[in-house]
Amino acid sequence: MSNFSSFNFKNFRALVRVDFNVPLDEQFNIKDDTRIVESLPTIKKILKDGGAVILMTHFGRPKSGLQSVKLGAEEKYSTIHLVDHLSDLLNLDVIFADDCGSEETYKLAKSLEAGQVMLLENTRFYLDETAGDSDFAQILATLGDVYVNDAFGSAHRAHASTAIVAQFFDASKKMFGLLMEKEVLNAQKVLKDAESPFTAIVGGAKVSDKIMILENLINKAQNIIIGGGMAYTFYKAMGGEIGSSICEEDKLDLALSLIEKAKQNEVKLHLPIDSIIADQFHAEANVMIAPSNSIQEGWMGLDIGPKAIEDFSEVILNSKTILWNGPMGVFEMEKFSKGTEMIAKKVAEATQKGAFSLIGGGDSVAAINKFELKDQVSFVSTGGGAMLEYFEGKELPGISAILN
Ligand code: AMP
Repeated sequence: MSNFSSFNFKNFRALVRVDFNVPLDEQFNIKDDTRIVESLPTIKKILKDGGAVILMTHFGRPKSGLQSVKLGAEEKYSTIHLVDHLSDLLNLDVIFADDCGSEETYKLAKSLEAGQVMLLENTRFYLDETAGDSDFAQILATLGDVYVNDAFGSAHRAHASTAIVAQFFDASKKMFGLLMEKEVLNAQKVLKDAESPFTAIVGGAKVSDKIMILENLINKAQNIIIGGGMAYTFYKAMGGEIGSSICEEDKLDLALSLIEKAKQNEVKLHLPIDSIIADQFHAEANVMIAPSNSIQEGWMGLDIGPKAIEDFSEVILNSKTILWNGPMGVFEMEKFSKGTEMIAKKVAEATQKGAFSLIGGGDSVAAINKFELKDQVSFVSTGGGAMLEYFEGKELPGISAILN
């Protein structure tokens, strides 16, 4: 692979896979343009060098598989809705190609001059995209002289535009974009070069969603903090009384085997010693504090308690590397948000003391934003599912396609 920053794009037409899957309102106005804005440095660098850019992205989940709006595809998923805003952001007229693979689009791509930007129609208007079809990927590849992947959020998909297309470029003609490079380097800092003690904080509703990540981290971290609803499956497995707290009865054996594995690997597993319990799953429920293994019938644990916050804080503040995925409680409701807020603050404090902290996965990212601590941690991943799969130890097709 080549290095994006040192590559000179002069006279090259770069085929760039971005993630412009932004939310639209009913009138097709963009509600949140973060994903587009984040790709601008990559696009601008290519233009500044004297290159041209051909952008491709998926956009929503169209069902039709028709290849363009012209042919009757669902109009609300057309990338044409992004053209004006992208043009404003780049201060130039973005050219729109209303499909991805016609002769006309090929000619348009070939006629691009330095400094021009072209946006292809939604790649998911082609069923061949999600099927990872090699012929379709080859057609996409003919549009550019070099391939840049800047869509980390789609790196766990072996789709035509995210992975397969890379096969049609020489190693020296494919690379990560700036956004993707940042995600990969930061993830590697945690998974491959973590400074010890490395603490993984895993929360959220269910153990079943986090099994793979826990199993992988048990081989890497010195501490694993478990919070959120998943903690009660562990307590139940150990014979505790958890009232009506969320519990996966079919995962009790798995919880015990994870506890056993942690012991064997000398990884300290930290569970919340106490909980904020509620008499119903409601923002206005009655609440009290109880030991997490002694919750009476009719009550449920919806947040970690004060002793747990104290325990977890100590571990976090003594860590040099921190990975956080999943909230400590039902942080969307005020009464059950303190645990997540305090842990977010301690992660920020540890970062100020020199730890490297990475926040990944939808809800912990939402939490860190809610408590306005985004700028006080080392890195917040935009990668959602891709980041989760990376931390599960899986090879991501979008990354391997560039590396190999
Ligand atoms: P996840 O997507 O698995 O990270 O789970 C996030 C969701 O877990 C959030 O919507 C939280 O409200 C929920 N959650 C966290 N703690 C609990 C709990 N103790 N009981 C029920 N749901 C919880």
